[in-house]
Order: sequence, then C-alpha cells, then structure tokens
Amino acid sequence: MRKDILSKAKRIVIKIGSRVLTTEDNGLDPAFMVGLSIQVAELRRHGHEVIIVTSGAIAAGRPVLGLSERPRTIPQKQAAAAVGQTRLMRAYEDVFAAQGLIAAQILLTRADLADRMRFLNARSTIETLLECGAVPVINENDTVVVDEIKFGDNDNLSALVTNLVEAQLLVILTDIDGFYDADPRSNPDARLVSLVRTITRDVERAAGSTGSTVGTGGMATKVAAAKKAAKFGVPTLMANGKVADILIRAMAGEEVGTLFLAESKSLTSRKHWIAYTLRPQGKVIVDEGAVKVLAKSGRSLLPSGVVRVEGEFDRGDCVRVCGPDGAEFARGIVAYSHKEIALILGHRSSEIEDILGYRYGDELIHRDNLVVL
Ligand code: GLU
Repeated sequence: MRKDILSKAKRIVIKIGSRVLTTEDNGLDPAFMVGLSIQVAELRRHGHEVIIVTSGAIAAGRPVLGLSERPRTIPQKQAAAAVGQTRLMRAYEDVFAAQGLIAAQILLTRADLADRMRFLNARSTIETLLECGAVPVINENDTVVVDEIKFGDNDNLSALVTNLVEAQLLVILTDIDGFYDADPRSNPDARLVSLVRTITRDVERAAGSTGSTVGTGGMATKVAAAKKAAKFGVPTLMANGKVADILIRAMAGEEVGTLFLAESKSLTSRKHWIAYTLRPQGKVIVDEGAVKVLAKSGRSLLPSGVVRVEGEFDRGDCVRVCGPDGAEFARGIVAYSHKEIALILGHRSSEIEDILGYRYGDELIHRDNLVVL
C-alpha cells in the first residue's frame, strides 16, 4: 500500500528542517546537501516534480555574524536570516548544479499567500519554474515578518505550500526517525509508528510540544502540518533526513519513517486556503440551529442565525464561526463588516436593505466561502 501511495505522487513538497541541514555549530552541512541533491536528481529521473521548503537561513547566518548562541531577539534572527539566506541558496545552487539542476529561490510571508492574487501569482511562477525544469526552493521571508504575517514555522509553511503548488505528497525530513507514540527522549519504551491512518486527538497528544533547539518547530508542528496536508487530500511522510538515501528508500516503498494518510473527504484548494492560510480577524457567534444547518448541509450563513459578533473586521476578511459555547466549528470570508453584522444579526435577509440602506446579498458568509472544520 505504501509503495502505491508514494509512487502515485507526481509532485512532492520536501520540507527540510534546520536540524537536518546544519551541523551542531558550524552552519550548513555539506555532506547532507550533496546527498540531498543526488536524491532530488534521482526522484526527477523517476518522473517526480520536487519543490523544497527549506529552513536553515538563521542557522547558516548565525556563525557568520558571530552570534554564538541561538539568536533570541527577533531583529537578531532577522539579521542572521538575511546573512544566512544567501549562503543557503548558494549551497543549494552549488550542489544542484553538480547534478545538472537549477535552484530557484522563493521567499514568502503569510501575508503574501493570504492575498489571493499573490497566492495565484506565486502558484503560476512555481508552475513555470517546474515546466522549465528548475527546483523551487522556498523559505519564509524572515527579514520582513513579524508575528502578524508569519507562518510561524516552516512545518506550517510546507503544509500551505502543498496547497499552493497542488502537490500530491508532503515529505518532512527531520532528525528523528519519524513519529513515536511517546517522546523517545524521555520515554525509552516509545515506539516508532510507521502508519497513521487518521490524526486523532491521541496522535496530537503524543506529539506533545517537543521541540529542537535549532528549528522553531517540534513534533507537534509536524503533526499539525501533516493534518493540514491530510485535509487537502495529501499524505505526509515524516522521515530522518540524516539517514543516507532516505528519500529514495522511502519512495521505493521501504518501511522507513511514518506515513500519515490523507483524509478521504478533502477540501478544495480555495477552501483549504480559507481554512488555513488566511488569518481569522474576529468571531461570529451563531445559535444552535445555525450550527446544525451549517455543519450538516453545506449551507450559507444568514444573519438570522447570528447572536453576537466579536472583534473588528471588514467585508472580505476571514472570521471564525463559533457555536453558542464559543467553540469554533467553521471559518469563512464575510460579506459584511463587524459593524454591519451587529446591526443586521437576528434579522431576516429580506430586512438587510431596510436596516443598512444597501445590501451585498442575502448571506453573511456564502457557502462557497465557508469551511466547516
Ligand atoms: N525560516 C527559518 C530559517 O530559515 C526557519 C523556520 C523554521 O525552521 O521553522 O532559519
């Protein structure tokens, strides 16, 4: 089954963590980079298209700037990333060129991808690069990001890129062998799980919040990324990038790492983008009846089902849709601002124009813009 699933994936996003491509304190690990380039060339000979999401800019820049410890302040990290990103790309260029491959740098922020036009522009640029035979190498544009527009970590970025490029497989290369049923560093009985059919709460709990000291993510962010990929109908393979030929062996069907299966009911690209790439700006609280209707029948949200609005947002923003208990169960793009919704909530759609003096439509959130989570 494994081999079947993996070999069917034409387009693959490979996420490479800082821990994998750097050595303890000397920046980039040349042996890893060479091994990676040979494997990428091999995958392409087998007909796969490869998109890389790479970390390592901060780790590569840190020693150059003489920052001995892991930089702590945000400007220090951004400075290290600015110095490290060019070195990182030069390393990719060098090792790829030796295999006859061309590396293309793409730097993104969440704000870029949250803008539908820029999202589509990035998609067509990447499409064109792949047609030209280049290997897109993507990282977060660390120099300009602050929390508001950050992906948070490259695990999350890799999941969003999977949608961006409409890949069929996400591979997360890290420095442990895969997903364990408990933290292997504190629990000697922890077992490697080779197949995760569904990312349940138990799986998420086992992933805990274990982190490495070099990258920003831990097991929890990797499992969260796998879950987002699964929602897009894409399986995720998590494996140890430090092991020789791991990509080739895994793609040949060898039982290495952990394979997380995709969900059968997957979201379209645009709905996935609404659910995970956009950042919700506020909340619309709806009544029990609306929860039922929206969750079951894929209908639009009308003003009559809304009881309260929280936060400030404009027409066109993404908001959380919450039940009477405050728990979010859906997300969507609103057709009315928080001020307008405060005036029309609880009313019939036919009354919108009388109340506001204008109307954009009957729905607060049209079903095409609504995702039940
Ligand atoms: N963008 C960061 C870097 O290149 C890495 C973020 C992460 O590893 O999650 O250093």
